Amino acid sequence: MEINNDHRIEGDNITQMDCPKNKEKFAPGNMDTIVIHYTAGRSAESSANFLVSPVKASAHLVIGREGEIYQMVPFDTVSWHAGDSSYGNRKWLNKYSIGIELDNAGVLTKVGSEYQAWFGKKYQANEVVHAIHRNESSAKYWHTYTEQQIEKCRQVCDLLINKYKPKTILGHEEISPGRKQDPGPAFPLDKFRENLLSQNRSDEPDFIDKEGIVVTNLLNIRSDAGVSFKKVAIPLPRGTKVKVLEERNGWYKVETSIEGWVSKGLIDIS
Ligand SMILES: [Zn+2]
Repeated sequence: MEINNDHRIEGDNITQMDCPKNKEKFAPGNMDTIVIHYTAGRSAESSANFLVSPVKASAHLVIGREGEIYQMVPFDTVSWHAGDSSYGNRKWLNKYSIGIELDNAGVLTKVGSEYQAWFGKKYQANEVVHAIHRNESSAKYWHTYTEQQIEKCRQVCDLLINKYKPKTILGHEEISPGRKQDPGPAFPLDKFRENLLSQNRSDEPDFIDKEGIVVTNLLNIRSDAGVSFKKVAIPLPRGTKVKVLEERNGWYKVETSIEGWVSKGLIDIS
């Protein structure tokens, strides 16, 4: 993938859309933050179509559960993803930030053995995590993100950091606490931003040799550093301890019963 001179992303599985309501450019030097959201919607396509329609909300991207991307607004243009928000001494963060929406149903309600979204669709237990939100004190059921989706989001943030040099990555829940709870505890936000902002940006490996813990429901282990490489073992469940051997290009080589590569943001080595 790459970002072209029209501030749009190019590559496989990317749909470019027009969003007529968003034409205001960022003031020079203003854009320094990436904000992560969930759509709380039925599909990436339905959310993208909604966000380009004449409603008072939009975003730069929607990333789907297979890693597909819908770009609605170019990266040099303000979109309407943050709303009433503040961080530090700033208010209304739209004019300072790029907004990335992840296709995810959000909070779910347990109904029998299934989990139901606000729009009625039901999900199975293997797509659900029971966890406490950073702004709350008791656990709820949350729709999980997919490995492809988190990895694509990492790749997009990596491109954005290289091109536009934003200083930080925040969750909507952190700039509108109490009003918004996305992306929620199913998204490994703290690790994600820490990894990206302190990334080894070369192809040379960093040797690590530390213990790590899996922080996603099911973690795929692959033959090399990328989602296109084949899976070499059954996925590891959340909480599994692994030995982290080295880092290359945002991926860790880990050792469990076998050796393989996993997306870096899905392992906690703190
Ligand atoms: Zn949001």
